[in-house]
Amino acid sequence: GIVKSFPHKENGHVKVLDNISLDVEKGQFVSIVGPSGCGKSTLLYLIAGLEKADQGEIRIAGKVVTDPGPDRVVVFQQDGLFPWLTVLDNVTYGLRLKGLPKKEAEDKAREMLKMVHLSNFIDAYPHQLSGGMKQRVAIARALVMEPAILLMDEPFAALDEQTRMVLHNELLEIWQKTKVTIFFVTHNIREAVLLSEKIIVFETRPGRIKEIYSSKTMKDGVMPNDVTFHLEK
Ligand code: ATP
Ligand code: MG
Repeated sequence: GIVKSFPHKENGHVKVLDNISLDVEKGQFVSIVGPSGCGKSTLLYLIAGLEKADQGEIRIAGKVVTDPGPDRVVVFQQDGLFPWLTVLDNVTYGLRLKGLPKKEAEDKAREMLKMVHLSNFIDAYPHQLSGGMKQRVAIARALVMEPAILLMDEPFAALDEQTRMVLHNELLEIWQKTKVTIFFVTHNIREAVLLSEKIIVFETRPGRIKEIYSSKTMKDGVMPNDVTFHLEK
């Protein structure tokens, strides 16, 4: 029952999300698609606890969440890496803030960077990496916190088709290994179909859910070619 408005210069305020209700199972890969401005990012930020809902509740395993927490991490379209830190230090940053000893944090970070095929770049600085590599670091940095929920806001939108395809496969592998619940916002319907088990289609403003499609056909991180989605309800 999420309702969210933002202040607006001329209209006082604009309703961005209008009574959004949805259920997601633990470990599901969910995509959110819809036209620009329909409130996709806003929904992610609400789940992340970065914005507060005017009405409605977000519950995770029955508990209402209102604040940000390390159980929910966001990967943005732009990587947001610290340019003055190496790849390794970017990935250990959050763990060190959590109070993890250096050695332990670095071991975890190395393991995660191996998962995204960046073991050879741990001492590099962000400006020495390609866009795809930077997004991999961003994903590693998010996952090293061992979140229950990974919130991805058009994470591959700035990448070329080829790099995107490689990252799709890597993401599916990671998802399979970590069993993390993923919310994946994209403009690219093909990408949503390729990756997810559930697709939430938003309407234009005020953002409402138009349709929800689901598929249970994904096996071991591999989506068969003939995947079909059915409309829920
Ligand atoms: P896109 O596909 O372009 O990323 P979106 O679906 O993610 O769009 P949102 O970013 O959620 O859309 O924005 C929805 C609407 O809410 C937009 O009109 C935007 O201007 C407005 N909005 C978002 N955040 C704020 C804010 N902090 N203050 C005021 N208005 C905001
Ligand atoms: Mg957005």
